[in-house]
Amino acid sequence: MAYKPREERKEITILRSLHARMELPEEGKWNYLKLNKGFEGEVMFDLLTEKLQSECFILNGLLLELNNSKFQIDTLVIQDTLYLFDVKNHEGDYYYEKGDFISKSKKLMNNPLDQLKRCETLLRQLLQKYGFKLPVEAWVVFINPEFTLYQAPKHEPIIYPTQLNTFMKKINMWTGKINGKHKKLADLLISMHLVESPYPRIPTYEYEVLRKGIICSSCQSFLVSVTGRKVVCGDCGCEESIDTSVLRSVKELRLLFPDRKITTKVVQEWCGGIVTKDIIRRILNQNYKANGFGRWYYYE
Ligand SMILES: [Zn+2]
Repeated sequence: MAYKPREERKEITILRSLHARMELPEEGKWNYLKLNKGFEGEVMFDLLTEKLQSECFILNGLLLELNNSKFQIDTLVIQDTLYLFDVKNHEGDYYYEKGDFISKSKKLMNNPLDQLKRCETLLRQLLQKYGFKLPVEAWVVFINPEFTLYQAPKHEPIIYPTQLNTFMKKINMWTGKINGKHKKLADLLISMHLVESPYPRIPTYEYEVLRKGIICSSCQSFLVSVTGRKVVCGDCGCEESIDTSVLRSVKELRLLFPDRKITTKVVQEWCGGIVTKDIIRRILNQNYKANGFGRWYYYE
């Protein structure tokens, strides 16, 4: 299991919610799809690193800062060698020309090798600063099985989908043991991990204009209804207990509007009126701390 598990970035969670509840401006929509796809790729890669049997520390999704430069590490595997992975989830046909990655429709990919170099350099400087002498191997991983790169460069640090298994086997071959030094590094990096904020790519939004209702947890549809103690999606058939659905919606509301007071009335409205006040009050009482009294009653 990963020593530092991956968490979905709040930015993606917020954008997903807004994408369902309002018409995002083109740029916002594009950002959401891009970030979400990137995240899905990282999660796909986690499925491979989870299977490693050799001793190692796996750190997923680190955001670090050194000398006022922020850098993000998708995956770091710590053994006697440090494996730094930058995961790309592009799909379709690309070709490589004079150092550029170009899609069939002539769109230029942000050069993953430049990004990797920067990240590697900053990581090396960080290791030096804290006195760790471990070699670093940095790789760009193209995780999507439907990605093809024509005229691919032979000597660049790139792992293509067809090479992934062989590469993981190589890491798995390591027979050494991780020790206090490895752990010290892993703990240091985790302690340096930054909480991202603010989120410049999130468009402005207001409570009033957002569509209210419970969103299906698996397909993001609003077509859900209450049947007995369950909330059932009319689109994908997914079922969830009322409690889970309401709590999930409250969590979403608090993420989007951290300053808004949580009351039974607000939650009922946010859930689109499909759950009775009594049920909402019971769920809030069981899961949140109540404050105030009378009409100023709210939950924390
Ligand atoms: Zn659904």
